[in-house]
Amino acid sequence: MKVSIDKGACIMCGSCVAICPEVFEMKDDGSVDVKDSYKGVDIVDENLQAKVKEAAAACPATAIIVEE
Ligand code: SF4
Repeated sequence: MKVSIDKGACIMCGSCVAICPEVFEMKDDGSVDVKDSYKGVDIVDENLQAKVKEAAAACPATAIIVEE
């Protein structure tokens, strides 16, 4: 599973960072993105996959793009 954030849609609410800080981070400027260590990376850990899916489902802007 790969995950990315549609920066144009993200409203920087921080919800995904709260739910899954392993994968998402808030930068110093307040923008939110997938951590560099997970960009374009196939996430195979099932617990992490579940948290990413939870974050995507909770995103108020549906800005989290999950590719199975
Ligand atoms: S939950 Fe969605 S809108 Fe909120 S910071 Fe994360 S990607 Fe952006």
